[in-house]
Amino acid sequence: MLHTPHGDVETPVFMPVGTQATVKGVTQRDLIQDLDAAIVLANTYHLFLRPGHELIRQLGGLHRFMSWPRAILTDSGGFQVFSLSHLRKVTDEGVRFQSHLDGDTHLFTPASTVDVQLALGSDILMTLDECIGYPATYEAAREAMERTVRWARASFEHYRQIEQPAGALFPIVQGGMHAGLRAACAAKLVALDADGYAIGGLSVGEPRPVSMEIVEAATPLLPRDRPRYVMGVGLPEELPEYVARGVDMMDCVLPSRNARNGCLFTSQGRIVIKQARYKDDAAPVDAACGCYTCRNFSRAYLRHLFQAGEILFATLATIHNLKHYLDRMRQIRHCIMIGTYSEWLDSVRSEPVQLE
Ligand SMILES: [Zn+2]
Repeated sequence: MLHTPHGDVETPVFMPVGTQATVKGVTQRDLIQDLDAAIVLANTYHLFLRPGHELIRQLGGLHRFMSWPRAILTDSGGFQVFSLSHLRKVTDEGVRFQSHLDGDTHLFTPASTVDVQLALGSDILMTLDECIGYPATYEAAREAMERTVRWARASFEHYRQIEQPAGALFPIVQGGMHAGLRAACAAKLVALDADGYAIGGLSVGEPRPVSMEIVEAATPLLPRDRPRYVMGVGLPEELPEYVARGVDMMDCVLPSRNARNGCLFTSQGRIVIKQARYKDDAAPVDAACGCYTCRNFSRAYLRHLFQAGEILFATLATIHNLKHYLDRMRQIRHCIMIGTYSEWLDSVRSEPVQLE
């Protein structure tokens, strides 16, 4: 269980991604009433550039701005600076980059990214980290990892000077796809005695089994009594595997992005809704799902909306996919609580994954 200024979050948890202070396609009412999401993720890089953290602060902080009474986690912006911005220059001071929106130059430092997240009023903040692409040489990964550790120390130094910040600050384990560097990074960050720890720099193009190996290398070194958060994963069938490796928190754009592209996750595998076989299919997307979409609409109707390019398709599909993820996490928490997790994991591992 995570305690935040905006409510408790049961773990292990999957966090819907609300990049621009909105989970694409669904309303905050859907997220609370139908999906019962306890926490969402918002994006520092995007909100810093537009509409600006000072504007959000003036309007009462991110919770009020987006009318979200529950917990918010913000990333530091590191990942987006390295994946979206142009002409970035990394020094020990921080990273100077050009906005992908208008080309203006900005500087993120370990202290400034903490200040931006505090202005947003985030419940869980992340330290600035240096993400590298895949593949990367050992030397490049080592350099970025060491800088990430120095930045994490600077972020904490700044954060701890602030009088009683309400939230929590997590440092991020880096080290590319080199297990030894990941372990070294985790060991150094533990000295910060943080409230929780994140593992970043995954889902950058590496094969999926590699992400899992890297998480396996880092998690045992992070304190068991603090939340461990793997950033940017995963597929529905991977969630229980990460949990089995000690992961408490995850986030990913997959359920919402795939929904908009017409790919729906179900208890029987994936459905690609545009396929002709769903044209006259009166069944719900997933008979085992109790979401608003499955309670009310047929595959045939959803296929029609998709083919017609109707906005409602994105909403109904996103509600369903997020519900699929959040229900899976509820099931995982239930099995852990009643002590049947390893038996349950064996049973889901033997289920064939249907890829279409
Ligand atoms: Zn559903």
